[in-house]
Amino acid sequence: MATSHEERMQKKKAVVDSHIAAAQEERGVLLVNTGNGKGKSSAAFGVVARALGHGQQVAVVQFVKGRSDTGEEAFFRNQPKVHWHVGGEGFTWETQDKERDAKAAQAAWEIARGYLADPAIGLVVLDEMTYAFKYGWLELDNVLASLRMRPAMQHVIITGRAAPDALRDAADTVSDVGNEKHAFAAGVKAMPGLDW
Ligand code: ATP
Ligand code: MG
Repeated sequence: MATSHEERMQKKKAVVDSHIAAAQEERGVLLVNTGNGKGKSSAAFGVVARALGHGQQVAVVQFVKGRSDTGEEAFFRNQPKVHWHVGGEGFTWETQDKERDAKAAQAAWEIARGYLADPAIGLVVLDEMTYAFKYGWLELDNVLASLRMRPAMQHVIITGRAAPDALRDAADTVSDVGNEKHAFAAGVKAMPGLDW
């Protein structure tokens, strides 16, 4: 029994090793964190910390302004290598002013575009950008063109629910976070330090 387990593990290791050996390319990667479950933005901010640990410069553009007192903003804004922008200044879920929301998203995109053309920026996070496509505030084709033309080593993470198919197709890594359950549904408030 023990031998056959060992053999199986050795075979597994050989497969994993061959995959590691085959992955030789080094380049910037486009990630999309989408789905209805919790963890899309917080995973992106985890990568921000990771990139900073390697001395990289990071740009974060938030397309939807939920609240201005988040822990991530308070923490990362003070980091010298972080460029932090809340672009969707006007947008909240209560807003009914479509034109103002579109203008705010377009202003956020103008800022983002600058970073997508700057090879000094190692990571660009476009937080909650998917809503800009859903509501028609931004042309997906224009955004995809800028993503294709970005510096070769630059990573980009786009977060938000319901990522459009063309964006998923263009991405290298897509994580579709599922909502198995969420404390909010059981009446727990959005908690500081965990949810914002
Ligand atoms: P987080 O920022 O916690 O990683 P997220 O980016 O995956 O969440 P968003 O759709 O941006 O999710 O939601 C923003 C807020 O809503 C956060 O406070 C988050 O904790 C909460 N939230 C996320 N998913 C759910 C869910 N399935 N049900 C209820 N609340 C949620
Ligand atoms: Mg989010």
